[in-house]
Amino acid sequence: MSIKTFPLAGTQLEELSRQYPTPFYLYDERAIRANVKELLRAFSVFPAYREHFAVKALPNPFILKILAAEGLGADCSSGPELLLADMAGIRGEAVMLTSNETPASEYRAARGLGAVINLDDITHIEYLEKHEGIPELVSCRYNPGPLKGGNAIIGKPEEAKYGFTREQIIRGFALLRGKGAKRFALHTMVASNELNLAYHLETARILFELAVEIKNKTGIVLEFVNLGGGVGIPYRPEEEAVRWDDLAGGVKKLFDSILVPAGLGNTGVRTEYGRPVTGPYGWLVARAVHTKSIYREYIGLDSCMADLMRPALYSAYHHITVAGKENAPLTETYDIVGSLCENNDKFAVQRRLPKIAAGDLVIIHDAGAHGRAMGFNYNGKLRCGELLLRNDGSIVQIRRPETAEDYFATLDLAALSGFKAG
Ligand SMILES: *Cc1c(COP(=O)(O)O)cnc(C)c1O
Repeated sequence: MSIKTFPLAGTQLEELSRQYPTPFYLYDERAIRANVKELLRAFSVFPAYREHFAVKALPNPFILKILAAEGLGADCSSGPELLLADMAGIRGEAVMLTSNETPASEYRAARGLGAVINLDDITHIEYLEKHEGIPELVSCRYNPGPLKGGNAIIGKPEEAKYGFTREQIIRGFALLRGKGAKRFALHTMVASNELNLAYHLETARILFELAVEIKNKTGIVLEFVNLGGGVGIPYRPEEEAVRWDDLAGGVKKLFDSILVPAGLGNTGVRTEYGRPVTGPYGWLVARAVHTKSIYREYIGLDSCMADLMRPALYSAYHHITVAGKENAPLTETYDIVGSLCENNDKFAVQRRLPKIAAGDLVIIHDAGAHGRAMGFNYNGKLRCGELLLRNDGSIVQIRRPETAEDYFATLDLAALSGFKAG
């Protein structure tokens, strides 16, 4: 069981929506900080632990500044994400660049910030050498292929485009050493939104065993092993969160039984969790604008999949509550829909909910990671803004809603007026 809560009372939310019209995202600073403290406490069993927050999950520099203040680094997947980390003051080896099909410009940006480069392929060793030179510290991404079972969102590692094979990664580290690298790290990322603890422990076991094999075959002692992200959150109330203590405790047992006896007890442990860090502490708030009764009952919101794409993209479940009707009986069956000209623009399908009237505030839960970030502008839809509920109860707008001018910003309208269409 996971309990779905919202940090504001119905009347407070109604008041907030007068100042900041719906739709908007709301994030809870206090809850995010408490969660990060728990994560760091649980993983403090390792001598050198660091969490690099996956910036793509919630790419807002206000949030990144809060996470940095708690001691987190950043994991970036592109040049602009490196800039976001920099804006939040996260620099040097607190930043990792994990990208794929990486252009030289991104490697340059990463080297400029002193970020740890995580190579996605063996051919990138020569590519990096040619363009930017080989840094002292290099990480390589491992794809365990048939060693590892599949996961619903990311699929089977064997079919995934990422990373080095086992044979390549051993050869790759030796090659990097030959080209002047002095410090080495191993990384993998094989799952997404996985709630099964055993799955994550198996990943750690595979990486630790590989670290031992690398030492035996090349003499290279890794500085750290990065277990990646992919820990799920209980989107459905009947699901159970992965507890940080269970995860860190399970990984520690493997660390003690695999790395320590091999003389690798000083290996750093790193993670790059995104979803479980901020996901449960962000909500999309929208207002019901229409009720429609045809072959099904529909509630139309003033938001759409441009603000939150997960339900349309993966048929993902997001829990929904109605402000002021949290304890009302679930007497109705609705499709809760957005306004995009796509029939899969549905936040919920055939969901049991209390009776909803036009004007009600609808709260979509667990939207604090991979939510606003995945938004888009198809249909000329403007993405909503983001609000932060601070520790002291005040509200800060950390991103304003988009305007039509933002949507047109990449068009050269001066050239348009002189453009003759015949
Ligand atoms: C997406 C991603 C993450 C974060 O995943 P979560 O599911 O948000 O924890 C971490 N590392 C890499 C390489 C990723 O692509």
